Amino acid sequence: MLTTWKRTEELAFLNEVSSVPLQQTLRHLQGAFAAFFDRRARYPRFKSKRKSRASAEFTPSAFRWRDGRLTLAKMAEPLNVVWSRPLPDGQAPSTVTVSRDAAGRWWVSLLCEDAIEPFPASGNAVGVDAGLNHLVTLSTGEKVANPRHERADRDRLARAQRELARKDKGSANRAKARLKVARIHARIADRRRDHLHKLTTRLVRENQTLVIEDLTVRNMVKNHALARAISDAAWREMRSMLEYKADWYGRDLVVIDRWYPSSKLCSSCGALAEKMPLSVRAWRCRCGTVHDRDVNAARNILAAGLAVTACGAAVRPQRESSRTGQLAVKQEHPRATKGIPTLQGREKCQSYLYDLCVGWTYSNSRASLWRTGCAPSPAHSQAAT
Ligand SMILES: [Zn+2]
Repeated sequence: MLTTWKRTEELAFLNEVSSVPLQQTLRHLQGAFAAFFDRRARYPRFKSKRKSRASAEFTPSAFRWRDGRLTLAKMAEPLNVVWSRPLPDGQAPSTVTVSRDAAGRWWVSLLCEDAIEPFPASGNAVGVDAGLNHLVTLSTGEKVANPRHERADRDRLARAQRELARKDKGSANRAKARLKVARIHARIADRRRDHLHKLTTRLVRENQTLVIEDLTVRNMVKNHALARAISDAAWREMRSMLEYKADWYGRDLVVIDRWYPSSKLCSSCGALAEKMPLSVRAWRCRCGTVHDRDVNAARNILAAGLAVTACGAAVRPQRESSRTGQLAVKQEHPRATKGIPTLQGREKCQSYLYDLCVGWTYSNSRASLWRTGCAPSPAHSQAAT
């Protein structure tokens, strides 16, 4: 149909560009429909020539790569690229994608083969508790400050948005004002991403095992008082960075159940506090230990993660589970009793963590907590193995 479209007056602009990006776009559409019919993705959405991120994908027939200079189809001169880093030795790109973001910046992405060297083995394990006062708190007691980039630029952004709202629709001044808003958004996003990259790379380099909590950001931002701060902290982005970097560098990332009461458990005796409002920053357990809320949570996350790896249970709940409400962690223990655990001794605490990987289940999307009896039984070890 592409050739027919090119002849129409409405779509004549398709003739102005190389045919390869157009064909690639159709391929992307085909991929999107294939994913939809495989139930891997939602129905494809329409992309707007004006509003969507503009991008064009070039295959080797439509670009020339010579002496580190890139020339695209229909261009006489090589592109004047500001390189973010060199290409791997002796590699030529197999696909080139040119895109322009909302802030008017042009990007060239080059796809090429690269071998990633895993980091040297390390014996460290760390539990990571994501928060707002501190971006992350580690089980080692270290706290990483939350830079709150959005707050730093909030006034500037508000002013730019007010100016944009006052401009007439379709006017050149409106376009300029929109660009200004987009640039501030880009500045916030760039700094946030930079900070997260540095943090996640450091965590992955220093530790062999990383344990994080499975947070439902989508539900948490429904709390209007915290939505802005939670979005700015970008926990989801941090998690995906940890996921792929752990994979690259040969580290283990353990994601523990979101219903695990990491804040309420005492990390030294295993007692479960009844409630733990967000305002409580430090508390004293019945056993006498004084806990920093976040450090205690990070320690519990680490302990739970190590228990999960020891049992070899499903450590990564499928992404589907949150949407469809299917079992994320298979229940293998038939003698489960429903209830919230109350624990006193250290032994029981360990047994409880042990249960975590065999006896927790979701029923529909509302989670209910099932746990087996505390005393280890032969059935227990069977289920675990
Ligand atoms: Zn205690």
